Amino acid sequence: MKYSMKNKNSGSKLDNGGPPAMDYVGIDRFRIAAAVMVIAIHTSPLLSFSKAGDMVLTGILARVAVPFFFMATGFFLFQGGGANSFSYMKFLRKNMLLYGAAILLFLPLSIYAGHFNQSPFLPELLKDIVFNGTFYHLWYFPAVMLGVGVVVILQRYLRFQTAFTISFVLYLVGLLGDSYYGFSSQAPFIREVYHILFQCFDYTRNGLFFTPVYLMLGIFLSKRKPLPLSQCIPGLSVSLSLLLAEGLLLHYFSAPRHDSMYLMLPVTMYFLFQLLLLPKGQAVKTRRTVSLLIYLIHPWCIVLVRGFAKVIKAQEAIVHNSIIFFLAVTALSVFLAAAAGYLWERRKAGKTCRKGRAWAEISRSRLRHNLTQLESALPENCRAMAVVKADAYGHGAVAVAAELQATGVKAFAVASLEEGIQLRKNGIRGTILIMGCTHPQNAVHLIRYRLVQTVVDHDYAIALNRELASGFKHRKAEVHIKIDTGMHRLGEGCDHLKQISDMFQLPNLKISGMYTHLCAADSRLEEDVRFTGRQIECFYQVAEYLKGLGAHLPALHLQSSYGILNYPELRCDFARIGIALYGAMSQEDDRTKVSVDLKPVMSIRARISVIKKLSENETVGYGRQFKADRQMRIATVSIGYADGIPRNLSGGRVLINGMAAPIIGRICMDQLTVDITHIPGVGPGDIATIMGQDGKEKITPEQLARGAGTITNELFSRLGSRLERIYL
Ligand SMILES: *Cc1c(COP(=O)(O)O)cnc(C)c1O
Repeated sequence: MKYSMKNKNSGSKLDNGGPPAMDYVGIDRFRIAAAVMVIAIHTSPLLSFSKAGDMVLTGILARVAVPFFFMATGFFLFQGGGANSFSYMKFLRKNMLLYGAAILLFLPLSIYAGHFNQSPFLPELLKDIVFNGTFYHLWYFPAVMLGVGVVVILQRYLRFQTAFTISFVLYLVGLLGDSYYGFSSQAPFIREVYHILFQCFDYTRNGLFFTPVYLMLGIFLSKRKPLPLSQCIPGLSVSLSLLLAEGLLLHYFSAPRHDSMYLMLPVTMYFLFQLLLLPKGQAVKTRRTVSLLIYLIHPWCIVLVRGFAKVIKAQEAIVHNSIIFFLAVTALSVFLAAAAGYLWERRKAGKTCRKGRAWAEISRSRLRHNLTQLESALPENCRAMAVVKADAYGHGAVAVAAELQATGVKAFAVASLEEGIQLRKNGIRGTILIMGCTHPQNAVHLIRYRLVQTVVDHDYAIALNRELASGFKHRKAEVHIKIDTGMHRLGEGCDHLKQISDMFQLPNLKISGMYTHLCAADSRLEEDVRFTGRQIECFYQVAEYLKGLGAHLPALHLQSSYGILNYPELRCDFARIGIALYGAMSQEDDRTKVSVDLKPVMSIRARISVIKKLSENETVGYGRQFKADRQMRIATVSIGYADGIPRNLSGGRVLINGMAAPIIGRICMDQLTVDITHIPGVGPGDIATIMGQDGKEKITPEQLARGAGTITNELFSRLGSRLERIYL
């Protein structure tokens, strides 16, 4: 059945977010074991019976646990595409949240343990937060964040082998300050170096020296086939024995300052991890959450078990018997973690699958790519004003503006007051220009939300000024004056110089910009080029006139997407870029003077709901418009004109399994039908691509728009609100 939303193997190309990880049950199971090993390290289960036995268990063998977690992180995080296929910022945000929550969770214990009594207070606190963790087990979070950061940087600038070597050298440096410190500190110079290092952190077991090599090992294994069982077992046996020997020797000589790092540990991990990769099957998703929770809460369980034993006066039986103590702590940790994990998963299960029916995938990296491309085409001193009207041409105004803001865009344009308010309320800073007309009665909102209003002509300027003067005597509204240079839509005529200069006298308007719109900038026809030339000339004449009056010239802008691609030489302060940002031209065969490499930001996909066989002469859909002239197989796709797929689409097709399937019959409000006779192996739950790439085939926005006899601008802006927007 193809309904598995996880899209485990085959569908993963369309399910960029879903980790194919879930198939590795061995890794999955070992997570719990590793978490229990960490409990063992912190409770010393064998201590009451044999000191040596405890040392072997907690000082050597259980030390595979944390490297295992790092390797799993590396293995899944970068799987497939290397460092640029994942967002470090997102990873950082998630782990910071977790770390923050963990710090709070352990705050009472940290205070009790005197963690915050150290002096000097701030430097020590900083050390704890960045390296040591504010409680003894919490070093893991900063270590994984720093480690992944190091690996991202290494991978970006260096070849894999070099990056790996560096991470290993870092590990060696850490090693000499860890279990080999007894030897290495014999040399005065080395002791001096570590003396300095240990002022920055308490252990070398941290994100700089310890984590990177295991992350790299994980990445390395994600790129190749694991060794067969016949090599894993001997490899693991030999390396584990050597690890044991190494650990015993080091402890015999009392060399370890701390016992996290051994020379044989990465080798052991290399074999162990591959062994764990071998079993495949249906993984239990909660194990990840549960193992993390066990790790997170077990120190609290240690305290609770101790406290409980004290209250019932059973310290002798529970706390002083190390194995009972370990078992009690483990049982409590596992129970609490499993309960919390269960509740968490149940909460998640209550949510609907966002790729259940029809959705638009929106690629942030492509948006950024297009911006960079377009910025390179901008005239000197001209900045991009991102046009995000009509919900960013259907791409989601808040998400698009936030992404662009994060990459440095400081000016945005919308069509209406409400669109401007929506952006402000969602944290968009900088200039937000409303390009349409706002009713003067709404002037209060312009000021409240610091929006820049377009003055659509002289009369409007008077009305807006009057409204402001009556309501907010001391507040000015920021405006850009629109000049009509021949489009005859909005703006004061460019020959009405007196009316234009009069606007500058209005006391309640702060004029920070002046602009016009070119209405034939897309055309390379001689007549249109001449017309556009006159528009441009007319606009600059207004500017010259104002300058002549001694006015301080506000910011000027006149190009939109086609404007900058066909008239890249104009002097201006902003370019109002819309459609090109989204990676499309309005029409398919448009050629421009400057050509930039644009990539469509959006893909549209939908699920197949039903497959049917059709005999000759049977018909499909409303009005029986399509009639089969042979035996056929058809599929119903869950997307229709209410989602924005134009009903008049002619010659339309979708892509299934990388092959084109023609749309047959009329497109309905909520579904459409396609011919899949020639495509083998299609089943319900499979994904159809209406726009975008599938395998080697793709359907561009321009093709889809042409099929509907329109331009991409209209196609995008009419996408239905029920089409789920998914940001990649
Ligand atoms: C929509 C709009 C733009 C953006 O146009 P694109 O062709 O999508 O780049 C620019 N200026 C004004 C006035 C607009 O209305």
